[in-house]
Amino acid sequence: MKCPQCGHENNEKRRYCEECGEYLFPEEEYDKTTQIHHVETVVKSDKKKVLKRFFTAIILTFVLTAGFFIYEMYGLQKTHEQEIKTLEKEKKELQDKIDTQKNKNNETQLDKDEEILELTKETKEQAEKISDLEEQIAQLEEQLNGMDEQSSDEGTQTKKNESSGENTSTKKKTNEEN
Ligand SMILES: [Zn+2]
Repeated sequence: MKCPQCGHENNEKRRYCEECGEYLFPEEEYDKTTQIHHVETVVKSDKKKVLKRFFTAIILTFVLTAGFFIYEMYGLQKTHEQEIKTLEKEKKELQDKIDTQKNKNNETQLDKDEEILELTKETKEQAEKISDLEEQIAQLEEQLNGMDEQSSDEGTQTKKNESSGENTSTKKKTNEEN
């Protein structure tokens, strides 16, 4: 049987051409149905093309899916990078705040230290003043004692002075005892 496609002479029993794979209609059928059978033949003989298309579709699907995932992952990565950047920025801001607070604390501490120094100085000065005053008081008391002794020696005291004289003698006694 002669192939209508390539003209190859095939065995009478063959359904497809040995050379090109074209569907071989039985002679009686061939005349009746031309167009439809031809289309069917094309489809059947294009098995390879169909397979090719099938694989192409699979590959295309795979590539598209992979592309989609890569795009998504890239987007996720970008989002993560953005989040990390935001977090780093927040961290820096917090660090700055902490540093500022630390500096403020240090300044406050310095101020306090200065205040304490100032107060210590004042306390010292006051203590010195007090000891000066105590010295002065002691000198004045000595002078007073001296004056009392003098007045009691002269023996010209009034009644009031008598009592103070008694006091003086008592004082004197205490002094002697000491
Ligand atoms: Zn053929």
